[in-house]
Amino acid sequence: MTDSTDAKMDKIVALAKRRGFVFSGSELYGGFVGSYDYGPYGVELANNLKAAWWQAIVNEEANVVGLDSAIVTHPKVWEASGHVGGFSDPLVECKECNTRSRADHLLESIEVSADEKMTVEEINQVFDEHRDSLTCPKCGQKNFGQVSQFNLLAQTNLGNFSEDWTKEPTYLRGETAQGIYINYKNVLDTTRVKVPFGIAQIGKAFRNEIAPRQYIFRKREFEQMELQMFVDPDSEMEVYEKWKEKRMQYYLDLGFKAENLRWHEHENLVFYAKAAFDIEYNYPFGFKEMEGVHARGNYDLSQHQEYSGVSMEYTDPYTNKKFVPHVVETSVGLDRTFLAVMTEFYDEDELGGDTRVVMRFPKKLAPIKVAVFPLLRNKPQLVEKAQEVFAMLSKHMRTEYDDNGNVGKRYRRQDEIGTPACVTIDFDTLGEENPDHKDTVTVRDRDTGEQERVAIAELIERLK
Ligand code: ATP
Repeated sequence: MTDSTDAKMDKIVALAKRRGFVFSGSELYGGFVGSYDYGPYGVELANNLKAAWWQAIVNEEANVVGLDSAIVTHPKVWEASGHVGGFSDPLVECKECNTRSRADHLLESIEVSADEKMTVEEINQVFDEHRDSLTCPKCGQKNFGQVSQFNLLAQTNLGNFSEDWTKEPTYLRGETAQGIYINYKNVLDTTRVKVPFGIAQIGKAFRNEIAPRQYIFRKREFEQMELQMFVDPDSEMEVYEKWKEKRMQYYLDLGFKAENLRWHEHENLVFYAKAAFDIEYNYPFGFKEMEGVHARGNYDLSQHQEYSGVSMEYTDPYTNKKFVPHVVETSVGLDRTFLAVMTEFYDEDELGGDTRVVMRFPKKLAPIKVAVFPLLRNKPQLVEKAQEVFAMLSKHMRTEYDDNGNVGKRYRRQDEIGTPACVTIDFDTLGEENPDHKDTVTVRDRDTGEQERVAIAELIERLK
């Protein structure tokens, strides 16, 4: 792919819209910034991505179990976690057009790094030093106000009916991890797990991002897939290294090219963290964080121990050693994985003299595994047979039936949604032209465009 950044991004966005992967949120009402809806093929791809993650993290790990915790929790959870006090981004407003931007992102654009731990005064100082070089991304003017801290937690009055509920709000969770920490004891007390063990969760998270951008990369409502491993303090770094390796291998096994993935080490660790690396993916707009792998010490459980008054201490049944477990976390956004997969497997090539767009999804991620076509829609025998084949295949894999337009057009459409195989029921299937071909169909391969005849009786086996 030799397209420029914007060209490739535009192509992916256009394809995602044209083929029903991703729609702008609330489009009917002029859109709603930072919000997107997954369409019929998007939801299939997203579900396949979640299933692949769950398979690797929960099913294939002997000491990991799953969880689905509430989105809205007791507000104390977010005080204990530090989100109420500290989960904020530096915001700065353009005085000309009132566009709000992230001060750290503006500074980054001129290659000045703003430390996550800086106070508002410190960041204002850095900002003032570079004011002359900073322009508003919307109007291009250089007239910014002062930088202030903006809390990312989204408030809600769910469960609070008072008029001034904003004084005691509840929150939409800013990450799924807290639901895991507050259930650590429940899981320990009710299942067979022993430290080291992990709890995994997939679910929505909400952040009042100041400047949502880069399509589904930075949304206000997004989905996370998180694993929290609870470990003996002495083995934290060993477990950490193991998960670092596993998570990179995961993407390689999915079919990502190694050159499109890289590690990025956090330069400024929060005080409790031991190590923090991100897996960055080469998006059309450059390498950016897709997943974080963090060694978090015992900060999370200690905080909940302090705020709840309930002991989080664990006694090792073999050694009687007592400790508050340390946490190793792997945290990835479903939406960022989705965009990475759309970028990685987007391709254009020439087939039969035509240029085509083809999504080369690995089979396990493809939204539709096989498409079934009657050669002609107005021949009842072909339609009946095609419907029979659809009924047979759809019990085994996600199958789509299509009788729109001609077969060539149907192939192009399936190529664009990444369907690995198309099955056509033609006159040969009926045995009208060659009795030897009765009850066989044409199977066409997405990647090569090659076609072969396969007996209906062998179809399931062959497609699997
Ligand atoms: P960033 O620095 O890009 O804001 P972060 O470091 O705050 O991200 P984490 O808090 O570590 O992100 O969240 C874990 C994962 O959740 C991220 O690696 C990312 O994949 C995903 N994520 C975080 N914020 C968003 C968002 N606004 N939209 C989509 N995915 C997100």
